[in-house]
Amino acid sequence: MTHPDILIVGAGVAGLSLATALGREGFRVTVIDGAKRPLPPTADRAIADWDLRVSALTPVSIAFLERLGAWSAIPARRTGCYTGMKVWDGHGSGRIGFDASEVNAPYLGHIVENRLTLQALLQCAETCPGVEVLWECAMDDMTHTDSGWEIRCGEGSTFCAPLTVGADGARSRVREWAAMPTRQWSYEQSAIVGTVALASRHQDTCWQAFLDSGPLALLPLADEDKVAIVWSLDEAQHERIAALSDEAFVSALNRALGHDAPQALAVGPRASFPLRQSHAVDYIDEGLVLVADAAHSIHPLAGQGINLGLSDVRVLAEELAAGKAKGLGVDSPVVLKRYQRQRKTENLAMMAAMEGFKRGFGSRNPLTVIARNIGLGLVDQQAWMKRWFMGQALS
Ligand SMILES: Cc1cc2nc3c(=O)[nH]c(=O)nc-3n(C[C@H](O)[C@H](O)[C@H](O)COP(=O)(O)OP(=O)(O)OC[C@H]3O[C@@H](n4cnc5c(N)ncnc54)[C@H](O)[C@@H]3O)c2cc1C
Repeated sequence: MTHPDILIVGAGVAGLSLATALGREGFRVTVIDGAKRPLPPTADRAIADWDLRVSALTPVSIAFLERLGAWSAIPARRTGCYTGMKVWDGHGSGRIGFDASEVNAPYLGHIVENRLTLQALLQCAETCPGVEVLWECAMDDMTHTDSGWEIRCGEGSTFCAPLTVGADGARSRVREWAAMPTRQWSYEQSAIVGTVALASRHQDTCWQAFLDSGPLALLPLADEDKVAIVWSLDEAQHERIAALSDEAFVSALNRALGHDAPQALAVGPRASFPLRQSHAVDYIDEGLVLVADAAHSIHPLAGQGINLGLSDVRVLAEELAAGKAKGLGVDSPVVLKRYQRQRKTENLAMMAAMEGFKRGFGSRNPLTVIARNIGLGLVDQQAWMKRWFMGQALS
């Protein structure tokens, strides 16, 4: 049996960043993941060579990745730095534009392919003393014992640590096996993601339309004529649009974008993800803590998922290090409660805001349509309100 100080289940962005942050604080950390070790990605520029999954990383997340040494390991020629955001209501005339210069910021964020973020974090974790990452090691049983949770992976491998971290994503088995109550519901929407070549430049701008069928986002990649799309659609429409040929898909996309955004020329391979919101009632239990999507997953309409997850990781690592300095153990309820208190408040506020957006923009009620169009116009004209919204997006 292996006995690290901390066992992390899940080597996604959250698990690997946490392992590195904790390894640097002198903890002995083991990370296990059921998947195969990801191969270093090719970074060619053809439409099919871009990862289907990208994230809009905020300056706060980038600063954290910089401190871990991961940001410099992501090739700069592959990250799409954006300085503008354009949001409009597909059902009216309401629109709003944000520009980094309005808050004296050099940029609003970077669009980065998930596999590049993951590969950079893997390099950091694997070279960090005290950290071991084990692939093809899926947890398939866990039981509580006096010395912590005992985790079993197939035949033979067993782990037991005073603290186990569930970083195993939205369908967390750790959360399920520990019977941690979770509020969850389906949006009855799926998101189509893919890379799209444009007829014109993306202008280093994120474009987001709130359509009757759901939000549609164009996220600017490092190539000035390519964007990643996240097109959330109600289930009935999703089925129809996902089944279209590439040519018909591009036409449907251009109809949805109207004249408010650059037009699409071609689309690469596409994939679909069902959209669910979930939030664990508690993030902590005896000798156990949940981070990132294992604790909460939200609608991708504001691209905040991994940013909230990286903030969880930063706060948990800081609290465990502060507890260690005071002589507290990694499973100290005082330490774990401090983490939960800070993160739950912020995550719940963001989830409530996303839910409000989703409901407000999903409504076809004529009064709601008028109100949101007036609202968007008002915010666009008020510099202080825009600065407030941008403050939220930058953190
Ligand atoms: C369509 C879509 C678009 C999105 N766009 C954005 C965006 O623009 N910006 C943003 O911030 N977020 C975005 N998100 C959310 C973001 O992708 C997630 O928040 C992020 O991937 C969560 O990271 P994680 O490390 O918590 O979990 P995951 O990335 O899900 O990693 C979990 C890991 O755990 C492993 N695992 C699972 N079960 C086990 C087990 N039993 N044993 C061992 N290992 C296990 C898995 O193999 C995996 O490697 C989007 C999500 C969707 C669906």
